Order: sequence, then C-alpha cells, then structure tokens
Amino acid sequence: MRITFLGAAGEVTGSQHLIETRDLRILLDCGFFQGPRSESREKNERFYCRPKGLDGVILSHAHIDHCGNLPGLYRDGYRGPVFCTEATADIAEVMLLDSAKIQAEDARYLSRRLHPGHPPVEPLYTEDDVYGIMRKFHPLHFKEWHELAPDCKVRFIPAGHILGSAIVELEIRDGTEWKKVVFTGDLGRRGMPLLVDPEPVDGANVLITEATYGDEVHPPPEDIKSALQKIISHTVARGGRVIIPAFALGRSQQVVYYLNELFNEGKLPRVPVYVDSPLANKVTKIFRRYFDELDEDVQRSRQKDKDIFEFPNLRYIETSQESASLNGHKEPFVVISASGMCESGRVVHHIKHAVAEERNTIVLIGYQAPATLGWRLQRRQPYLRIFDREFPLRAEVISLSGLSAHGDAADFKWWIEQSTQRGHFARSFIVHAEASGARGMASLLRDNCDEEPVIPQFRQSFEV
Ligand SMILES: [Zn+2]
Repeated sequence: MRITFLGAAGEVTGSQHLIETRDLRILLDCGFFQGPRSESREKNERFYCRPKGLDGVILSHAHIDHCGNLPGLYRDGYRGPVFCTEATADIAEVMLLDSAKIQAEDARYLSRRLHPGHPPVEPLYTEDDVYGIMRKFHPLHFKEWHELAPDCKVRFIPAGHILGSAIVELEIRDGTEWKKVVFTGDLGRRGMPLLVDPEPVDGANVLITEATYGDEVHPPPEDIKSALQKIISHTVARGGRVIIPAFALGRSQQVVYYLNELFNEGKLPRVPVYVDSPLANKVTKIFRRYFDELDEDVQRSRQKDKDIFEFPNLRYIETSQESASLNGHKEPFVVISASGMCESGRVVHHIKHAVAEERNTIVLIGYQAPATLGWRLQRRQPYLRIFDREFPLRAEVISLSGLSAHGDAADFKWWIEQSTQRGHFARSFIVHAEASGARGMASLLRDNCDEEPVIPQFRQSFEV
C-alpha cells in the first residue's frame, strides 16, 4: 500500500492524501489551498492524483480547505462516489455553492488585470460542477461500517471539530493482509459549545493526523457567554451598537446559542439582534436538522426550548437591502455577520459604519490573520483603510479567545493516549501543520507509536 501526500503537507490548507493498493485508489479529502488569490489559484487548478482513475473519495468534514476542490475533481472527470457523514454532505453543498460564486468573482477580478486582448480568466469551477459532484455524495451514519469495495471498508467516528466532522477509519486489504488507516481530519476540543467531544479510536497500522496546534496550549476558554452579556449591556447603555464578525460555519451558531441562553436566563438586554449572513443562515438551518448530533447541554436545553437558535428579538437578515438599512438605525443593536477576519462579506460595511464612533463595540472572537482588517482592528491601528477610504478607529475593540475549533497539544495528548490504551499505532504521518506544530505533535506521538513519526513533504510517497 502506498500513501502520497498531495496537500496540507507542511502547511494548514489543501488537505488531500492518496491511498493506493494494487486494486484500489482512494482519495482522503479534496481541499482548497487558501492564501493570496493568484498563488492559491495556481495550486488549486491542477491535480496530481489522476481524478478519472480514482475509485472513491472520503471527506472528513465540510471546511473549504478539506472539501473545496471536489467540484474541480468533477470538472476533471471524476464520477465515482464521495463518502462522508450526512451533516457534512448538507453543509458541503452550501459551502461549495458559495465557493463557486467566489470563483466567478475571482475570475472577474483577475481578468480585469490582464492586458487588453488576453482571453479572460475562467472560474476554477462553476455551480454545475458543484451540482455534478453533489450527485455523487454518499452520506453515511456515524460509526457504521460501509463496504466501499470488496477490499475496503470505511466508517466515521465523531471528531468534535464542526457539525458532521469525522475521524475516518479505513480497512483495506493489501495483498493478503488487512490494514487499518486512521485519518483524523481536523480534531476538535473537549467541552466546546454545541459540539460533542472527539472520540478516541483503537489504534491503527497507519495514523494520518492533523497538528495545527501541536505545539500550543490554548488559553483556558474565557466565559464567552458572560463576556458577551457584559459587552452588550455596556454598549447598549451608552447608546452604541455591537458588531460581531463571525465565521458563517460554526462561530455564528455558537454566538447565537450563547445569546439564546442569556435570553432564557433573562440577562440579555432588550435590543434587536441580527444575524446578517445568508451563508450563516443556511448553515443554521442545517444545524436544526441535526440537533440530535449536538452535545448533551443542547439536548438538556431543548427539553425547555425547542429551538436554541431562535429568541424573540433575533432576526435573520437575507437581502442586501435589509442589511444596508441596518446602518441607518439610530437605536442600539447587535449584529453577527461574516466574515470572521473582516476581509469580505457584509460585516465590512457594518464595521465601516461603526468604527469612527466611541459608543460602538467590535467583538473579535477568532484568530485574525496578519494584515486582515480584523488584525488591524485588534492592533488598534489609529486609522483604517476600508473600501479605499480612511476611517479613524474610535470604537471599542474587544478580543475574546477560546472558541478555536482545533484541539491543542493537551487535547492531542489526551486523544493519542486514549487511543493507544485501546490499541496501538504502528506508523504515523503528521499533516495540516506548520513546522512547529508538526514537531510538537511528533514529540507527543514518539512514545505512543512503534516507528518514528514522519512529517511528509508535498507529493512525497511512502510504502506502508
Ligand atoms: Zn476544519
């Protein structure tokens, strides 16, 4: 059996790994490389796995850096099945349709920069490619073995990273021997709002593991619920508005869940709350379909409150006219809007209209990559360039940490030890990490794995 690492090797995006035996070729994940526009386009426009020759694709979860290039696979002729959990299939559909829209916008942007007469840049893929690959999706229940081929079985174990996210267990016959491959996808954390905890496995011949935060321990999660309550109360008392930039998938639902709890406890000030992101609204509808897959706290809350994503002063905004009209409001309000790093989407407009007034508050609840508007806000740059205009930063900016969807070194250590108590890992490959995260994970695995852990390079192959 041979494994080739075709993405997320020495970096944290573009998850894609190829497993080959004499009879089978299986792809684990088919993610997008993310980064500066033209550089990532170059990496995303070609495959090294011969799409037409694949027998199956297995998808760990619906983040774009894991599923984003599935329509590209269809464009290049892949017509086989895509296995994933049911929630992942539903979320992937809305994420990929949104991605197709972004591909079209990017193509227009790049075309405008070409010399006159140069043929326009084509989008990487279209909505038709998304619908094409979606027809090939084969959703499976968690924990049920499925025979992908006579020589290959797959099952999904909860990874606790986002709704539907799974650790992939694969049993493959290699000649006369059956081998087990475990692919973590992205591993979540224990005790996160809404999500179940990641579950250990019982060892494997080959472990392929992510290590994004393999060398870090997250600060203890702040009490985000009570922090939000204080921020909203203070801001409303001074007549301001609260802007909460949040990723459409995951963070938006977590914030609404906290606000709903505050409402039920009678602690939420009586102000309008808006969720202003059509993508977040679509994802929230999917969360409602999978209440049963959420954690015990949600099950308990739902005994008294059937819909934890709904309370009387909450409104989900759909049209851009409605979104724009919020900026004319004189009274205080709270708005949760994408994107999380404030680089695109409707939240940029909300920030533009709020940033110059002291009474307003912008709440950053996630990692802000260098040079993004979120990062500039976090560093309190005195003037901010937004849509080619300078605005003075006078609003309050508050950063709340603790909602990272990735496990840290302590979570990884727990998961590895639990898994090796039930079985053992023979070989291990560390992906989805920068060098320091990978080294951290290697030192965690060294004592729990028969062979020295390997940090593969892009396109490197190994016989296992
Ligand atoms: Zn992920």
